[in-house]
Amino acid sequence: MKVEFYKHNLDDSDKKACMDVLDSYFLTTGSVVRDFEQKFANYMDAPFAVGTNSCTNSLLLCLKYFGIGPGDEVITTALTFLGTSNAIERAGAKPVYVDVLPATGNLDIAQIESKINARTKAIIPVHLYGQMVDMKALSTLSNQYNLKIIEDACHAIESSREGIRPGMLGDAACFSFYATKNITAGEGGAVICKSEAMYEWLCKARIQGVNKNAAQRYGKLYQHYEQEFLGYKFNMNNIQAALLINQLDRLPLFMKRREQIAQIYESAFGAEPGIDFPRVLPDSLHARHLFTVWVDPAKRDEVLDELQKRQIGVAVNYRATHLYQYYRERYGFEGGMLPLTERIADSTITLPFYPKLSEAEVQHVLQSLKEVIKQLS
Ligand SMILES: *Cc1c(COP(=O)(O)O)cnc(C)c1O
Repeated sequence: MKVEFYKHNLDDSDKKACMDVLDSYFLTTGSVVRDFEQKFANYMDAPFAVGTNSCTNSLLLCLKYFGIGPGDEVITTALTFLGTSNAIERAGAKPVYVDVLPATGNLDIAQIESKINARTKAIIPVHLYGQMVDMKALSTLSNQYNLKIIEDACHAIESSREGIRPGMLGDAACFSFYATKNITAGEGGAVICKSEAMYEWLCKARIQGVNKNAAQRYGKLYQHYEQEFLGYKFNMNNIQAALLINQLDRLPLFMKRREQIAQIYESAFGAEPGIDFPRVLPDSLHARHLFTVWVDPAKRDEVLDELQKRQIGVAVNYRATHLYQYYRERYGFEGGMLPLTERIADSTITLPFYPKLSEAEVQHVLQSLKEVIKQLS
């Protein structure tokens, strides 16, 4: 039996919406993007949403809105996709890492204060795997030191913790609609924010810094537009928005199925020697974006190989950012700097985990993992 690492959930309604855009003459950022933005803002209970082409670029836009650049430091985690730190680097600022909590892999907020200095401008928390960091504690701290919070909420569209959702306490939250996310357009992203001034700036910044985009010009007599500042080219297009807009309605359904699968995995591995996994905190509504297990770091790569030999799709979310070649060379980072991050990074394996997984596939994955672990022990 071959088990894919991921299968998307695009259905006929998504294909139809996409075809409607292809049958129109307006493919770029237009009314479909605006409809998606409104529906997404509504889903997230956020005043404003802006469609972009990725989460990485969304983070970069937010950093730039807050004037963060060379000479500044941004506190974040190294247990995340490279895009989080790359946005900080691309802004010209320096990522400063705080270690994670051993039970969840999320930022250890108690360790942040010792990293704050005069150069610190912002914190980028990542709601890892779909479980939110303690945003109440983080926002108390950030208020005290006048720091911005830009949430990397790629895993957390559906998450909440003590009634707090992404974007509620942070200054902005960024999302990705990359190929393997809970909803996808192949590529894409969004920012939600509370400030109208920020929203207006983001709408211009994503498209060169001009004050009228093509949709605002389309169908009207030609009008000159002005470039107010040097922007970027990070806009979402109507094709992406059409693919995404109906998936929003199915999020609760998708999440329910992932929760069922998570519980099957957790009960299968709970008493299994050699297999551990992150814990769900009692006050947390976990979006269940990724299901990861932790195995002996000395055997992790062998376990990966063995599972792939059995045609099971696997991934590693994530190797530690600070130990990639670029970051080692740029900052002289070394192993041992973030012991808990590194321990998780070296022991983690992501299992197939998506609503289309059949019962038989789930059983096959969990039995195979148990067998491989026994075989290698
Ligand atoms: C996917 C992901 C990103 C990057 O998203 P892109 O849209 O590919 O830029 C950043 N952070 C996390 C936690 C992610 O999972």
